Amino acid sequence: MPAALFGSGVALRFYGACPRNCYDTCGQWVTLAEDGSLKVEGDAEHPVTRGFLCGKGYANVDLHDHRERLLHPLRRVGPKGPGKGSWERISWDEALDEIARRMTAIAAQGTPERVLEFHYSGHMGFLNRYFPLRLWRAFGATETLGTICAAAGGPALSLHYGNSFGLYPTDYAEADLIVVWGSNLAWSSPHVFALIKEAARKGTPVFVVDPLASQTTKIGTHLQVRPTTDVVLALAVARELFEQGLTADEFLKSQTLGVEEFRVHCAPWTLERAAEVTGVPAAQIRALAEAFGRAKRPAVHIGFGVQRNVNGGEIVRAVGLLPALRGAPRGFYFSNGNLTYRWDIPWLGGAHLRKGTATLNMVQLGRALQENRFDMVFVWNANPLATLPNLPLVREGMLREGLFTVVHDLFLTDTCDYADIVLPATSIFESPDLVPGYYHEVVHLNEQVLPPRGEARSNHRITLDLASRLGLTHPELRAGEEATLRQLVDTCPDLPCNWEALKERKRVALHRPDPTVFPTPSGKVEFASSVAASRGFTPLPKPEWVERRDEFQLITPTHASVINSTYFHLAPFAPRLEVNPEDAAALRLTEGEEAELWNERGRLRLPVTLTARVVRGSVVTFAVPWVKHQAGGASVNDLTSDDVQAYGGNATFVTTFVKVRKAPTPEG
Ligand code: SF4
Repeated sequence: MPAALFGSGVALRFYGACPRNCYDTCGQWVTLAEDGSLKVEGDAEHPVTRGFLCGKGYANVDLHDHRERLLHPLRRVGPKGPGKGSWERISWDEALDEIARRMTAIAAQGTPERVLEFHYSGHMGFLNRYFPLRLWRAFGATETLGTICAAAGGPALSLHYGNSFGLYPTDYAEADLIVVWGSNLAWSSPHVFALIKEAARKGTPVFVVDPLASQTTKIGTHLQVRPTTDVVLALAVARELFEQGLTADEFLKSQTLGVEEFRVHCAPWTLERAAEVTGVPAAQIRALAEAFGRAKRPAVHIGFGVQRNVNGGEIVRAVGLLPALRGAPRGFYFSNGNLTYRWDIPWLGGAHLRKGTATLNMVQLGRALQENRFDMVFVWNANPLATLPNLPLVREGMLREGLFTVVHDLFLTDTCDYADIVLPATSIFESPDLVPGYYHEVVHLNEQVLPPRGEARSNHRITLDLASRLGLTHPELRAGEEATLRQLVDTCPDLPCNWEALKERKRVALHRPDPTVFPTPSGKVEFASSVAASRGFTPLPKPEWVERRDEFQLITPTHASVINSTYFHLAPFAPRLEVNPEDAAALRLTEGEEAELWNERGRLRLPVTLTARVVRGSVVTFAVPWVKHQAGGASVNDLTSDDVQAYGGNATFVTTFVKVRKAPTPEG
């Protein structure tokens, strides 16, 4: 027990990983000093993250120590809503008894699905992310589907490749062309960005396709594409490769199907026509095609942001096919998530215990609340009242009389403003876990450094506590943390060692799947997908895009200082509206003055920044602020779209349109 060493002059070191929903998944060492203070530093031997953390990684200590951290269960006194009501401290027994009593009453009506478990990715460790599902599945609650971020790309790539895993970060050193398509890696993946910068310094050509100029676009040729027109750009590049005889014909003949259909499909997209649609000059499209034509090992990073368009799945399909034209079997990265390996996630999450079938597309929580689908919502690993689109609808629903809401978190977030009971959660240093990456193949032990502060309890502990109160006696709902992790590790054939060895080694690399095996019906890369029609899609990616007159496309990239809404309250950024100067002139907007933007969902006022980094016809503001820190009690998510796309039911945040004008004065 580390606390026993306090005052002994001994500092202890623990291994861990930053478990945020981040491409990089950094390995780290945590030092517990004899005065009880914590220090984190990057794992210098880590093959990808190589000894440095970003500011958010260091800020995990600030989250742990923060004076506003929740340390006791709380019960609401008075009405719900921001700034209303107050909190009284209650015991864990009171809190759990009340929650279990409500759940039991709902189940007694024969409607356990009227309890919604709502979670996302606040902690990406296996235990913290999946273990609680055992409880909700055994109870029969409605289960939340994680569709807010990257659910479109997987099904899209699977149409052509059979599954969606691709490149690993260390592959960029071997690449002879790097294309970053729709991502500001400098902010969202600083370690992969460092690897790409190193490759660029050694002479590897880099192209960045993005409607916005950024730190990332500075390291290569920037193609400033109009949002949603990316399919056209990709088809035009493919057409050039065909036209100039730059396709890898041996590979295409032996390893692919449907390339002739794809060639015909691309044929209408001449450089000139594509330039007109995409806004990218024909010479730049040709330059990208010629760079592909010279490359034997092209590497294309497909960003999560670009697939959050209404046609995001189509974009991922079209872009993902480009490397195959050059004979690279999987020359793309989209996500090498847990499905890439043979982890027994169904067992870990208790799929075999599941009583009900009800699910919720998380993007449409507001719509479900309008339909009065739930009597209780239990939120864990998430802050939906900040992160969801169409927040006005969500707020209205969360205020409904009779809806009982519980939030498990470290802080009084925006979501807590609508809670009846708030439960204090553990920090990343207070519960053990195993943390996988979804870009690299390293899995890390996250050793528990300290006992929980105050009365905080982990996701695992609450799962067991509630299960016993609800009379759920499955052995899986009594399993200990280490026993669960041991079984997960010892049944995964893709690990090079067992649990005991992993505990010694702290981190290990999983075996990569064979990139030349394509589990499509033909066993080949299918340019024209043979399964698309059965899944409701066209065999070839559709060249569609969205345009609206007199409205601006609202782009909402994630700010460097946050992961979704996590960390925002540590150092809040002040949202501004970035507008192209030519658009601003037409709107008579000047630097620093307030603009009003609105659509059918909501209305927001933001100070204006004039910048040519934004493509004309779009405006930009960063996500995700906490609403309670915003003047007017609204954020950009008051405006974002809660429509979903056919691919994975994924969110379409980026395909949000707004009208913009000079903000009226209070007198009108
Ligand atoms: S947020 Fe990402 S880059 Fe930063 S420390 Fe965590 S895993 Fe590493």
